[in-house]
Amino acid sequence: MSKSKGYAAPNAKTPLAPYAFERREPREHDVVIDIKYCGICHSDIHQTRDEWSEYQEESIFPMVPGHEVTGVVAAVGGKVTKYKVGDKVGVGVFVDSCRTCPECKRGLEQYCTVLTVWTYNARDAQGTPTYGGYSDKIVVDENYVLSIPDNLPLDACAPLLCAGITLYSPLKHWNAGPGKKVAIVGLGGLGHMGVKLAHALGAEVTVLSQSLKKQADGKRLGADHFYATSDPETFTKLKGHFDLIVNTVSAPLNWADYMNLLRTDGSMVIVGLPEKDIPVSAFALTAGRHSLAGSQVGGIRETQEMLDFCGKHGVASEIEVVPVQKINEAYERVLKSDVRYRFVIDMATL
Ligand code: NAP
Ligand code: ZN
Ligand code: ZN
Repeated sequence: MSKSKGYAAPNAKTPLAPYAFERREPREHDVVIDIKYCGICHSDIHQTRDEWSEYQEESIFPMVPGHEVTGVVAAVGGKVTKYKVGDKVGVGVFVDSCRTCPECKRGLEQYCTVLTVWTYNARDAQGTPTYGGYSDKIVVDENYVLSIPDNLPLDACAPLLCAGITLYSPLKHWNAGPGKKVAIVGLGGLGHMGVKLAHALGAEVTVLSQSLKKQADGKRLGADHFYATSDPETFTKLKGHFDLIVNTVSAPLNWADYMNLLRTDGSMVIVGLPEKDIPVSAFALTAGRHSLAGSQVGGIRETQEMLDFCGKHGVASEIEVVPVQKINEAYERVLKSDVRYRFVIDMATL
């Protein structure tokens, strides 16, 4: 075992604080990564506060969150072929899976039917708790490490590892592209990546935000239209309008109101994960043959495809870099939708 340091939530009620722990010694196929940056995802807040307890078997404390990790390879195991010391790499939301089930074989490791090992707040195949990227280093099997394109900076690129792929995957799966009208609900960490990626894919992009406060930003990021959901007119004006709505909101919303904005055969894809169930009427589905679907991050192959796409199109995140000591303050600002548009922790401050 080797010593590692980071920031952890001691329990669901206490702010994050410095924490010392151990990482495994690198195995033959492991890569040891010096972490340079880690994004703050809203899922980190949900999980450190144990808000998903209804949907999860257990929460593991002390919890070192962080699954938008970028850094540089510091060492490799004897049989590693994909990476060498000095390479720019990333780690996303999971660090292992069974590798043999049909989903893993299709490159959908995030839907592994045996065991997807999440980057933190999970147990690996040996039952050992996993610790995330709010730390100085991480040890990950080379097959679950991503290569960062040379032209993307490690700080602005970190949020691609969760926010980026979480939007890229459904945009691709539901064919966002030229001639398609796509709405992104919520202009936060996920939402702003949705705007950039849908725009880069050639779709006509509309932001549905609580107010018009972020309108200028939304347009600059690539949105063609911007509406406030606090204005009831928005819901009459846009009725039957969209081919695809991607809903990134972290809090309860009346989903049926948004389904009314779909055209015939349109789909609303949920990626936001509020802590409580949301009822939807059958009529919101039957009218217009609408689909309500969900999507969870993306597989390793697709994440690499997304990173390469971002490298080619010069797409990265809009970030505010913070020292590790400001994590708890950053959490409060995320909860107030006061982030433009992702906090990224500079791990050199640890
Ligand atoms: P975030 O940065 O906080 O963004 C959420 C946005 O939702 C806010 O910026 C805000 O946008 C809007 N919003 C917040 N509260 C609202 C409310 N009460 N009513 C209406 N709109 C509200 O969070 P994030 O990191 O993007 O994550 C969003 C959600 O996705 C979280 O629940 C997270 O756990 C989940 N997530 C899911 C996956 C997946 O694989 N499915 C992956 C990562 C994260 P406006 O200011 O524009 O209104
Ligand atoms: Zn995330
Ligand atoms: Zn599997």
